Formats: sequence, structure tokens, C-alpha cells
Amino acid sequence: MAENLNLFTSTQEVIHEALNKLGYDEAMYELLKEPIRMLTVRIPVKMDDGTTKVFTGYRAQHNDAVGPTKGGVRFHPMVTEEEMKALSMWMTLKAGIVDLPYGGGKGGVVCDPREMSMGELERLSRGYVRATKSVVGPTKDIPAPDVFTNAQIMAWMMDEYSQMDDFNSPGFITGKPIVLGGSQGRDRATAEGVTIVIGEAAKKRNIDIKGARVVIQGFGNAGSFLAKFMSDLGAKVIGISDAHGALHDPNGLDIDYLLDRRDSFGTVTTLFENTISNTELLELDCDILVPAAIENQITADNAHKIKANIVVEAANGPTTAEATKILTERGILLVPDVLASAGGVTVSYFEWVQNNQGYYWTEEEVREKLYAKMIAAFDNIYTTAQNRNIDMRLAAYMVGVRRTAEASRFRGWV
Ligand code: GLU
Repeated sequence: MAENLNLFTSTQEVIHEALNKLGYDEAMYELLKEPIRMLTVRIPVKMDDGTTKVFTGYRAQHNDAVGPTKGGVRFHPMVTEEEMKALSMWMTLKAGIVDLPYGGGKGGVVCDPREMSMGELERLSRGYVRATKSVVGPTKDIPAPDVFTNAQIMAWMMDEYSQMDDFNSPGFITGKPIVLGGSQGRDRATAEGVTIVIGEAAKKRNIDIKGARVVIQGFGNAGSFLAKFMSDLGAKVIGISDAHGALHDPNGLDIDYLLDRRDSFGTVTTLFENTISNTELLELDCDILVPAAIENQITADNAHKIKANIVVEAANGPTTAEATKILTERGILLVPDVLASAGGVTVSYFEWVQNNQGYYWTEEEVREKLYAKMIAAFDNIYTTAQNRNIDMRLAAYMVGVRRTAEASRFRGWV
């Protein structure tokens, strides 16, 4: 049978299994198997050459029983309605895992920001907010950065929302620049969260981070900060990659140099002649492998060839269900995406809380609170997996979906 590479249906399958294990009936699965709300919009944008281009955008809201929905907006040519649905469900799971008072949401626009000017991006960002105005808001659905969106884009979106509302609404969106109510540490939060769970996983496997050989696929926001954190902790980052290829040095790469040379979309390997492929990168002999790029990278085809002791998913959906099974059977510790990448939304929550209070925390306070949440989440999921003899992905889904299922039950929805 061919492997299921469809993110949406494979997510549904794990949610179904998690709800069964928690003792919920089919009605709960019926409610949670897809978003309660899905908005598709068409956004006309005046391009620099005087023409008008109409972009398609989405906002998916999985479930708001717990609280407002929350999740990023991505600008990418491959954005689809199905992907939005799956990603909004993952946000529900992430919020449940780190215990945030949110449901999951996700948005996106089909576009290629690498080919757009700043002016065009600004008009598109503002257009997205105007088009989705009726479903988003600080107590309804709170957007944030995601693939190829950043603090500047959040600033334009916040300004557009505030202009329509006639007052400043910093809590409408997170991942803002600090001067507009952003939180200390938000830009690094996803990588920081990944670093924390790598530390916890390494302890379980008696691996000393100092000297550990680490391979990171992807050099975007998560991958590049992560490479820096790991090398600062004394790990040897022996491989990194971007969309064009990968670099390998068994003695450890010069991460500061690579960070200096990378462009704002994370491209750096094009500057080198001696590159390897992304496939070869994943199969390198190492202690810790971190897929931090795109989905379906570890599949039934290559799971047998992975040599790492620990795989930590910093990207969304890099390992298929079949590959999860193979890695687990081979004794590889797999830390799933919905846990490993939850640091971003955690600090987004801190940002929203600070906006609501109008009182801002130091970098140290943010870091302390992030550590507490990530470590508690890791322990909870690791223990659930051990006690029930299941893999950490299923354990994470059980922990993640529980809060939303309980809230839906208390509200009398199911
Ligand atoms: N886009 C990030 C994620 O997928 C962050 C979401 C947020 O900060 O709300 O987790």
C-alpha cells in the first residue's frame, strides 16, 4: 500500500487514534476532525508595474472551545486549503501541549514573497487583514508569523487592524517588533524551544550536548537560530541545508560565518561548491537530527537509513506515520513537531498577555517561563509514551487534544 503523504488525512488519523485512547466517542472525532470555520478570500493588490494581481488567501479556525484561535500566517506559493486545515489542527495540539488558553488557527496567502517588492508585500499584508477582518481579532483569532512572514509584516497587519478599529490593538497579532509591543525573545522562541527539548531528549539518551554531532535540515528562522544555539552550547553542527543543497563537515561547520552569509530567506549553500543533497544530509552519521525545513522528509523510503539516535522535528510534518513507526521500532527517539516547535506559540502567548496587561517582561523572565512550559510538556509527553508504551507522536496528540475535547464537552457541544 502506498504511504499516506497527505498531511491533512494523516493528522486526522492520529487525532482519531488519540481520541479513542482517551475514551472519547465518534461524535468528538466528528467535531475535531476538521476546522469549525474556514474562510477563503481574494485579495486584489496593486503591483509596482501598475497592474492588479488577485491573490488567494485563507484563514482556518480549528476549534475555539478553549479560547480564541491562534496561529501564524504563511506567504508561500504552495499554500493550499487542505494544508491550512491540517496546520490549524496542529496549532490546537501545540496549544494543548504547552497548556495555553487557545484553540488552533492558521492562515496563508498563495504568493511568492521572494519575487515581491516591499511595497507589494505591504499592500498584500494590509489586504489580507481587511479581507479577514470579520473573523480575526484580539479575543477571536490572533495571527502570528509563519513561513516567509516576519515582524515587519506583523507590524503592517497590526497597523491596518488598528486603523480600521480606530485604536491601537497590539493584542491583535503577535511576533511584532519590540517597539510595537512585541515580546523579548519571540524571534528566537521556536529555536529556543527546540533547544530545550533537545536537551531533555539528550538526557534521556545519556548524550552530552557538548561535542554531540548535530545535523539540521533547513536554515530558515528555526534552523538558523538553532544552529547558533547548538554550537554555542558546544555541540558540533556537522551538517546544515537550505532548499538548494546541503553542507557537511565532520569537524563541525563555522555557524557564525554561515549566519553572516545567509540571505533573509535562509539561502546560503549556493555560495559553496562542495555541497551534498538534502537526501544525503538526512542519512549522515550523527547523534541528533533536526528536520527544520518542510514536510514529508523522512518517509518509509529513507527511515531505515537514518543514523541519528534522536530525531527532533522542528518543522511541521517532516516525518510520515510509516516512518514514525520504523524509527520507533529501530529505537530512535522521535520528538514530534507539535511538541518540539511549540516554543513559538508559547512566546506569542506571552506577548499577548503582556499586550493585555500593558506591562512588559525582561528577556530573562520570558526565557524562564518558556523553559518551565517546554520542560513540563516534554516530561508529560515522555511519561505518557512510556506508561502507555506508545510513540511520542501519539502521546503528544493525546496530551494536545485533551483540553479542546474537554472544553467542547463542558460547553455541551458533544
Ligand atoms: N507559526 C508558528 C507555529 O506554527 C507560531 C504561531 C504563533 O505564534 O501563534 O507554531
